Amino acid sequence: MARALTLLFIPMLLSAADYDIVIRNARVIDGSGNPWYRADVAVKDGRIAAIGRLTNATAARTIDAGERVLTPGFIDPHTHVEGNIERNPRADNFLLDGVTTVVTGNCGSSELNLTAWFDKLAKTGLGINVASLVGHNSVRREVMGGANRLATPGEIVKMQTLIDRAMREGAVGFSTGLEYIPGTFSDTAEVVALAKAAAAHGGVYTSHMRDEGIREIEAITEAVNVGKQAGMPVEISHLKIDRRSVWGASEKSLALIEKFRGEGVDVVADQYPYDRAATNLGIRLPSWALADGKIKERLAEPATRQKIGGEMKKNLVEMGEPDYNFATVARFASNTAYEGKSIPEISALKGRPAGLDGQIETIFDLMNAGGASMTYLLMDEKDIERIMRYPFTAIASDGGVTELGVGNPHPRSYGTNARVLAEYVRTRRVLTLEDAIRRMTALPARTFQLKDRGLIREGMAADLVLFDPARVEDKATYAKPHQYSQGFDYVMVNGKVVVDEAKLTAARPGQTLRHQ
Ligand SMILES: [Zn+2]
Repeated sequence: MARALTLLFIPMLLSAADYDIVIRNARVIDGSGNPWYRADVAVKDGRIAAIGRLTNATAARTIDAGERVLTPGFIDPHTHVEGNIERNPRADNFLLDGVTTVVTGNCGSSELNLTAWFDKLAKTGLGINVASLVGHNSVRREVMGGANRLATPGEIVKMQTLIDRAMREGAVGFSTGLEYIPGTFSDTAEVVALAKAAAAHGGVYTSHMRDEGIREIEAITEAVNVGKQAGMPVEISHLKIDRRSVWGASEKSLALIEKFRGEGVDVVADQYPYDRAATNLGIRLPSWALADGKIKERLAEPATRQKIGGEMKKNLVEMGEPDYNFATVARFASNTAYEGKSIPEISALKGRPAGLDGQIETIFDLMNAGGASMTYLLMDEKDIERIMRYPFTAIASDGGVTELGVGNPHPRSYGTNARVLAEYVRTRRVLTLEDAIRRMTALPARTFQLKDRGLIREGMAADLVLFDPARVEDKATYAKPHQYSQGFDYVMVNGKVVVDEAKLTAARPGQTLRHQ
């Protein structure tokens, strides 16, 4: 009898308050693109439990929004958190930029054994939710190493098996990085054959295309053809025009995407709001020179070294760049003094005479020492704005989890969303606030089929951000990247407060999100 009474009483005590959290007096921007409306929003058991005038509702915690805007947590559809989220699983830089969910495994580079990786992350405890793609380069490297040739039918089957397994383990789709080794050695038929293995499980195809400048029209056409032939939606990764010689060409790229959409192809894009790209140093060299990881051997051979240098010079002319002034070292483990310096500056430090030949020798030195992470000033603001205005461009960082003070990373890992809201919404008025939020929430949720996120609706996961649009600001710059965004006063992940009055809490409510 006593036991039965206890059982009766416990639920009564627990339900003393109606909700875990009630946020009062918010201007709700629900993620759909609709204008804000005033409401209270209640959270219970990790979900949005009620929206409306909740005057009499009780809650364990009440947060007065004081007219600030409440939005869904931001979904960053394009990240690279493998290898860094393990060291900082709370992912401070993302949380303080309003991001509650990331899609990783982009540009062809992913974990292959997703169950093991997800289990490890879940055990560590995550600040953010993590979904993953399965990457072409990772799969190809596993089966074929760095070989500079087409895949045999047997190798295709092996790669398909790895993709099929990753999809069964919850990958949200298949990514390519066709400018990188070894994916660049593939043809479209290979990519289609592999994409089909992901399409069979309802995945999306995301592509860092073969070219993002002079041959972008062909590259977009290839990406769309992969989607058409494999029967899956397409997201073009970090859409940009990264060649001075063809600045302005985004108009043609967007017109082509619109044409394909009109023909019934589900194709969208993502973008980071910066004029510099960030990637490795090797991408400046011809890809054949990097095949099989034998760059040192090739540079040691005088004739080959000269041939590589010659192709690099030709490439610069095509790009419309007089030299490597656009290239800055972000991370160079063997000599951190080079970090933040341009190739001509490093060349001068090494005592080389000014000029292109010395700069190319400097690049060879860095490649011989294991390569470097770089930022490249390659984009024009007019193209950035035009691509941002395109209605189906999602906001993405292309970043990873940072370690405060380590290296000289691209500021996008810290400030992407705050920068869009401060610079492109508030200052330049390129987007309305509601439209910017849609591109950070409902749009990527749709593409990656995160069906219970990206909108403020009853029953959705309680990933929420509360901020004052007049105050939100990115602080990270190219010169001083290690600065968190400011103004995201409250961030909630799965109903738990992870940023409380602009300070990180100890909560680790993030989940690994497996595609069903
Ligand atoms: Zn990429």
